[in-house]
Amino acid sequence: MENKTILIVDDTVENLDILAELLEDYDVIDATDGQDALEILKEEKVDLILLDVMMPELDGFELCSRIKENPKTKDIPIIFITALTDEESIVKAYDIGGSDYITKPFKKKELLAKVRREFKLQELQKKLKLLASTDPLTKLYNRRYFTEISRHFVLTAKRENQPLSLLMIDIDEFKSINDSYGHDVGDRVIVTMSQILVENQRKSDVICRWGGEEFLVLLPNTSLDGAFTVGEKFRKRTEDTVLDITENRQLKFTISVGISQVNVKEEESLELCHKESRYSSLRSKKEGRNCVVLKDF
Ligand code: GH3
Ligand code: MG
Ligand code: MG
Repeated sequence: MENKTILIVDDTVENLDILAELLEDYDVIDATDGQDALEILKEEKVDLILLDVMMPELDGFELCSRIKENPKTKDIPIIFITALTDEESIVKAYDIGGSDYITKPFKKKELLAKVRREFKLQELQKKLKLLASTDPLTKLYNRRYFTEISRHFVLTAKRENQPLSLLMIDIDEFKSINDSYGHDVGDRVIVTMSQILVENQRKSDVICRWGGEEFLVLLPNTSLDGAFTVGEKFRKRTEDTVLDITENRQLKFTISVGISQVNVKEEESLELCHKESRYSSLRSKKEGRNCVVLKDF
C-alpha cells in the first residue's frame, strides 16, 4: 500500500517537531499557519490533517470550514489537536466537520491509534463507494452511478461544445441462452460481454451495465460517425468470440447496438439520447439483430 500523507498544522514549531517524530511511519508535511496549509492542499495529495485550533489569523476552526467547503478537499479527515478542553469547542469541532478531537498534552499511543483508525475508516469508505457504484457480476459501473456521472459528462460537453454519443448494447436472444444452457452460462456470457467492452474501450469511454443483458457506453468527444465505428468494433469482437461451455461444447453470441448523440445545444441530461439509442437498438433487432443502428433523423 502506498504511504499515507499527513498534513500537520500548528503555529508552534516544537509541536510540529514532536508530531513529525511520532508520525515517522507516514509522509508528513507541516504548516505553521492556515494560509500555508491551504496552499499545500492545492498542490499535494493529503490523506489526513492534524489541526491545531488556536493559531493567529486563520484559526483551526475557520481553516477546517474552508477545507470542508472545497469539493476537492472536503473528504480529507481532520483531527483537532488542541489545548481547548471546554465542551463548546469540542462540539464545534465535530459540528464543522472534524473527525476527531484530542486535547493537549496528548498521549502518544492514543494519537497514533486515532490516526490508524482514521485510515481504516478511509479504506472502508473507499470499499463502500466502490460497492455502491459498481455491479457485482461485471464490476462495471451500475445504473445508479452511471446516471449520476453522466450529468457531469453532458455538462462538460455543453460547456466545451463537444459531441457526446451513447451506445446501447443488448445481447441478442439472451433468454434462449439462459433457457438452453442455464443461468450460470448466461452469467458467463454477461461477464464475457463486459470484458469485450472493457478490452476494446478508449480511455475516456464510460461503460455501464444498465441491467440484465443491457450495457451503455458513453463516448465523450465523439460524433455519430465515430460512435458507429466503435459500435461496429464491439459488434465484430463479440461475433468473433467463442465461449467454451464444456470441453466439446462452444457458444457464440451476438449483440444489437443502438446509437444516438446528445444535442449539446438543447439537452441538459442524457435522458432523450438514452431513449433514442434504445429505440435504435430495437430497430437493430427488427433488422435481424447483430447490427449497429444509428438514430434516424
Ligand atoms: P432480444 O434478442 O430481443 O434482445 O431477446 P432477449 O432474449 O435477449 O431479450 P429479453 O429481454 O427477452 O431477455 C433478457 C433475459 O435476460 C431475461 C432475463 O431473465 C435475463 N437476465 C437478466 N439479468 C440476468 C442475469 O444477471 N443473469 C442471467 N443469466 N440472466 C439474466
Ligand atoms: Mg434486453
Ligand atoms: Mg437481449
